[in-house]
Amino acid sequence: MLTIEGKDTWNKFLDFIQERCSPIEYKNWFLPIKWISFSESTHTLEVPNIFVQEYLLNNYKEDLLLFFPSENSEDPNLKFIVAELETSTSNTPSSKPKEEKELFFLNERYTFTSFIEGPSNQFIKSAALGVAKHPGKSYNPLFIHGGVGLGKTHLLHGIAHYLKQNHKKLRLHSITTEGFINDLVDHLKNKKIDKMKKFYRNLDILLVDDIQFLQNRMNFEEEFCNTFESLINQNKQIVITSDKPPGQLKLSERMIARMEWGLVAHIAMPDLETRVAILQYKAELKGIHLNDSVAFYIAENIVSNVRQLEGAINRLGAYCKLLAQDVTLDIAKQTLGEMFSTPKEAKITVDNILKSVSAMYDVKVSDLRGSSRTKEVAFPRQIAMYLAKELIKDPIIKLASAFGGKTHSTLLHSWKKISKQLEKDEALREQIQMTKQNIHS
Ligand code: ADP
Ligand code: MG
Repeated sequence: MLTIEGKDTWNKFLDFIQERCSPIEYKNWFLPIKWISFSESTHTLEVPNIFVQEYLLNNYKEDLLLFFPSENSEDPNLKFIVAELETSTSNTPSSKPKEEKELFFLNERYTFTSFIEGPSNQFIKSAALGVAKHPGKSYNPLFIHGGVGLGKTHLLHGIAHYLKQNHKKLRLHSITTEGFINDLVDHLKNKKIDKMKKFYRNLDILLVDDIQFLQNRMNFEEEFCNTFESLINQNKQIVITSDKPPGQLKLSERMIARMEWGLVAHIAMPDLETRVAILQYKAELKGIHLNDSVAFYIAENIVSNVRQLEGAINRLGAYCKLLAQDVTLDIAKQTLGEMFSTPKEAKITVDNILKSVSAMYDVKVSDLRGSSRTKEVAFPRQIAMYLAKELIKDPIIKLASAFGGKTHSTLLHSWKKISKQLEKDEALREQIQMTKQNIHS
């Protein structure tokens, strides 16, 4: 048990926790907390809102217990008080959320044109197109569900691109569920919640990706549900994606019922012919010519995830470019064969991990080894570091240096971050599982 008292303990706790969470988490959840007092062995903390308190207790209880143990309860010995909310004084109409850039991120490549149609996704594609053409007038909400890597985000962004081109005046907001939650936390913290409500409730179209992350986030769910109802009641279009149908989500009955109001549509893995068409389309974009035999060979072996099809092309493309050769069936078998067969016992190296992550996330190995901190590179790099620690028994220092000379603590931090995220992120679990399967010596 630790014996430091007063604010010192809190500061020590902050130092401790800063090492264990991402900078964003730290900034969102810990920095806004104010240490108030210490008396009768209880620390009092001021939190900007109840969500912060809840998040803390749900996610960091064990860590808190280390510093604030209590004798007769399972909860840390802490008293929370909620800071009083100022009423917003600003009258500016529909101010946009602060982190607009990131929240509004649309993948340029995810358009309707680049979405290859087949029997498995024809219906959902035409429903999405219908919504984009006549927002608020066809299916509302449109709820798209299906497994990882099947094109849900692609369709969602497709709707956004279409609307931006053809209905320029409509107020559109496209956001991930994580983004929505972060936005909410940010506005609560800055006491600007009214502004945010106004912004969301004045939208014409709201696109929400990966609603499954709203599960077990009670207070956020309520705010989301209110936003949802307010928009639907004004005939404003909502589109939601999810890894499960509404009824299987651990959300309130009210929320589930709302999501079932409109059209609930499933997106499945494309059939063989469509997979071949997707492969050829994507290869063409990369300037690679895939003949039918190669395309069928790949499509027959990859049966559960479109992203994996892309991974195969990237791998094959890189190999052929390196050797300045055309893609032949032999080369395809040589480069991808192991990927399709059951993994053998082989010595895994950081190099192999980097190659697999590189193909999976479409980033260069040299970037993974480099120092860019952009999200597109930093996140796959963290995954590679996580895998290295999980799969290779070498000392961490040695592993870290194989990543272009990173430090021991960088690697450890990445490993912790991904481990933590894996606890609640089903999609990430599947991605990592696939990346693992694609590692060869
Ligand atoms: P999800 O959101 O369902 O996990 P994504 O929308 O991120 O999946 O799709 C994964 C990858 O597969 C993306 O690169 C996307 O462009 C591609 N993809 C999925 N379905 C199709 C399709 N029918 N045509 C073309 N590309 C597709
Ligand atoms: Mg997605």
